[in-house]
Amino acid sequence: MNRGRLTGKVQYNSWNDRSNSLELFMRSQTDVPVWQNGSMPSPAKRMSGGSTPSAGVLRKGIGTMELYSTLSGTVEPLVTLQPDRVSMFVCGPTVYDYSHLGHARTYVVFDVLAKYLRWTGKEVFYLQNITDVDDKIINRAKEEGVSQSQLARKCEAEYFRDMHSLGIDGVSYYAHATTHIPEILSQVIRLLARKVAYVTGAGIYFNVDTFEHNGELSGQNRLKRVSRVTDETKRNPLDFALWKFGEFGEYTWDSPWGRGRPGWHIEDTAISERYLGQQYDIHGGGLDLIFPHHEAEIAQMESLEGRHPMVRYWVHTGFLTVQGEKMSKSLGNFITIRDALKTWSKDVLRYFILLSHYRSPLQATEEGIRNASRGLEHIRAVAQKDAGVNQEGRKAFVDAMEADLNTPAALAAIQGLATSGDLGALKEYGEILGINFLREESAPLSILQDVRAELRARKQFEVADMIRARMVDAGINITDPPL
Ligand code: AMP
Repeated sequence: MNRGRLTGKVQYNSWNDRSNSLELFMRSQTDVPVWQNGSMPSPAKRMSGGSTPSAGVLRKGIGTMELYSTLSGTVEPLVTLQPDRVSMFVCGPTVYDYSHLGHARTYVVFDVLAKYLRWTGKEVFYLQNITDVDDKIINRAKEEGVSQSQLARKCEAEYFRDMHSLGIDGVSYYAHATTHIPEILSQVIRLLARKVAYVTGAGIYFNVDTFEHNGELSGQNRLKRVSRVTDETKRNPLDFALWKFGEFGEYTWDSPWGRGRPGWHIEDTAISERYLGQQYDIHGGGLDLIFPHHEAEIAQMESLEGRHPMVRYWVHTGFLTVQGEKMSKSLGNFITIRDALKTWSKDVLRYFILLSHYRSPLQATEEGIRNASRGLEHIRAVAQKDAGVNQEGRKAFVDAMEADLNTPAALAAIQGLATSGDLGALKEYGEILGINFLREESAPLSILQDVRAELRARKQFEVADMIRARMVDAGINITDPPL
């Protein structure tokens, strides 16, 4: 997993005057990686590897995948801005608590999408933001008596740990809101200059009446929509904050108009503009983000230069639900990823998630996960002896993945491949789905290693060392990675 950052050359925590802000704006413009001009940001190069089809494995031509876009409301052939390259942005977590199975669903789906596209030979730059400045973080930090950054860094580390445990390692680069304040302010300045935003006593707002494509993504009647922000001085109740004035403790920055912090939506467009440009291929997230978040992103980005559409493929995952309701932190009906992993392996959880199509709601039930576990066990039990290539089974798998990432059909194909004994395909496709379909001879060993890694992470070195000593006695030498 890439935890490194593309360390921006412009990383300031405060701006003191307007000239400084304009200078930073100019600098941040020249800082944009030229992904659209042909060369990718360096981390993507490092991270875009993954498995690619081996000789003899059926490989579809480039550009044959079809994806549903919320924008058009149809399944469309995936035609990217540049052939053989895919630029993808997925809304990352707000880091104030542990991640739950709902998050797991969304991020497993995009992990598989990135891995599949890479497998077809495309170079994928998959960008995710980390929301580390937010009301929820401010409030939770107060409750816990810690600083905002302490809370955010801790929860972020837990998020990475959960993603790692789930085998989610397809992200090319994670970008934090708090280290992209110059980019955020640069967008605010430009939106003001274009007269699509205005300043009030409470903050700087985007004027939705200036944007002709408003409401296109959600298809919502503008009059019926409700704004989250209540500010009497707004021109239209639907206008949303780009910058909020005030003192918000540690995460407060100077701006040319007064101290404050970014609004909810601007970090995503500031980050995506910096690394992907003003137009890119895929934007993902859960269904709940379509309105107002993604609508606001479109309004901001498209108002900057008038490039439409900012993104052609808006891919939204359905909710993971509990008794019909979205699993969420606020409803308190959530199971954390780490708790689920105490009972089920990451393979079982991924298999369970991928048994449903990503756009359908998915009921999280004990029975559902148990059935998934049995299904996976069955595949492993059947797939014992290698009987060579099953071309038809392979085609069925690829066809399913190409058809709007139809993972339930792909898993049905996997069962066929297991029955026919095409172990090569099971291994290869297992890497795309992040699931081990083959029973490992060395499973007990890797389980022991996982247990030791967990013990070391919890600083229980005595037990970890004891296991290690016994392993060495048994002739198994292991090297521990640095903590
Ligand atoms: P959050 O940290 O709540 O902003 O969520 C991060 C991502 O997880 C967003 O794309 C959400 O839409 C997604 N998400 C949150 N809860 C669920 C859920 N119950 N089912 C599917 N996706 C979810």
